Amino acid sequence: MSGLTTEQAKALFERFRELIDSHAAELTELDAAIGDADHGSGMQRGAQAAAEAIASADTPAAVFKAAAMSFISKVGGASGPLYGTAFLRAAGVQPQAAEWSAEDLRAALHAGYDGLKQRGGAEPGDKTMLDAWQPALDALDSGGDLQAAAQAAAQGRNATADLIARKGRASYLGERARGHIDPGAASSALLFQALAESAGG
Ligand code: ADP
Ligand code: MG
Ligand code: MG
Repeated sequence: MSGLTTEQAKALFERFRELIDSHAAELTELDAAIGDADHGSGMQRGAQAAAEAIASADTPAAVFKAAAMSFISKVGGASGPLYGTAFLRAAGVQPQAAEWSAEDLRAALHAGYDGLKQRGGAEPGDKTMLDAWQPALDALDSGGDLQAAAQAAAQGRNATADLIARKGRASYLGERARGHIDPGAASSALLFQALAESAGG
């Protein structure tokens, strides 16, 4: 697994914007099925603002912090504060370093995941974005590279179709949520894809 330079951190959020843009309709469809059909547009606003806000950042932590503020201020609903918290916590692990080692990056992703759990009060298996993050982190913890993490996140996203939701809007649907992929898990899988494509192996 590689670390993360400032340029790679910027590339991550630029790539995330592209991936969110090209999957916005799909994210909205997923949210239309078990939520309120705003996940695509909300994530587009956040990812667009983040890609602009990171321009002058000069450390990986500054990149993540600028992205966090963009998601918190531009994305309403559940996912804005959740992504915002994750990025802010990730930034806090190595606030000064000019470059993150592989261990720094892994620790930052863990801190982001812990922030998500704390902020949303969900657990893996509750059919949320955690179900993409958790297998991705497991892959890294067992020695996998960022590509393996992205693949694990995509598998976790797919597996949310088998679950009923215990958090968020979809939790009101009970059994009717089964058979549908969770929109937040889908956007989180795109985040790990963007990371793998920006920071390599
Ligand atoms: P809203 O439901 O407010 O419109 P979004 O559509 O932006 O929010 O995001 C919905 C996604 O947020 C869900 O698909 C789920 O992945 C995630 N989510 C919702 N509540 C929680 C929570 N408590 N913890 C973790 N993730 C959550
Ligand atoms: Mg929604
Ligand atoms: Mg909403």
